[in-house]
Amino acid sequence: MTAWRNNFISMNKYTRPSIKLKEVRKIVLHWTANPGASAESHQRYFNGNAIKNKTYASAHIFVDGKEAICIIPLDEVAYHANDHYERNSSGTVYRGIPELEPNANKLSIGVEMCVEKDGTISQATISRTVKVIAELCKMFKLNANDIVRHYDITHKPCPKPFVDHLERFNEFKEQVNAILNPPIKNPQNEIPYPGILKAGSKGDSVKKVQQKLNVTTDGIFGPITERAVKQYQESSGLAVDGIVGKATWSKLF
Ligand SMILES: [Zn+2]
Repeated sequence: MTAWRNNFISMNKYTRPSIKLKEVRKIVLHWTANPGASAESHQRYFNGNAIKNKTYASAHIFVDGKEAICIIPLDEVAYHANDHYERNSSGTVYRGIPELEPNANKLSIGVEMCVEKDGTISQATISRTVKVIAELCKMFKLNANDIVRHYDITHKPCPKPFVDHLERFNEFKEQVNAILNPPIKNPQNEIPYPGILKAGSKGDSVKKVQQKLNVTTDGIFGPITERAVKQYQESSGLAVDGIVGKATWSKLF
């Protein structure tokens, strides 16, 4: 199941021009700047009034706290990120992302975050957008560094909260990255700390330490084990006391 549902708008030259994307190199993040309007109401708008008003605009996916809707097939162009007005007559002036020259709309997918009535983007919307974009990254073999803001292409203040606060955008990318590259769990890390082991301790936990330190695994914490622990502590930059406390244990395992 995808993180979004498809509800494509009809083909028309203003909002769904039915031009094939050349390639998907980046995911462009937007906000709708339209307080209180849901993903569904944007689908309706781009399928209705935007066409009636001859507005050349759209994006692929709209996300709110409740759902994400893909309104334009992901192999087609949406009009979300190109900046005709910023180029001179020879078309050479282009700010922003070199990989998206000369027309960002032909080389990217546009994702719009819907805005709450109070003008903010809700946490639910952000979390859903993270999932949507992680899925798009997998689909198009991109990584978190391929997420760009509309601002990065045209300097339009969009999505404004992520333009005003770069750290929020970076955090967003980190969340996507955490989905794409989950931390690899070392099974050895899962050996729980058994409590302090020192001269005189006995049992399986002592055996594990002995195994790790290449001394006889008899399960008895004697002088040889103690010396091996001290050597290990010294070479690992730990306090040298010959006692396996939490710090030494977690370094060992
Ligand atoms: Zn935008």
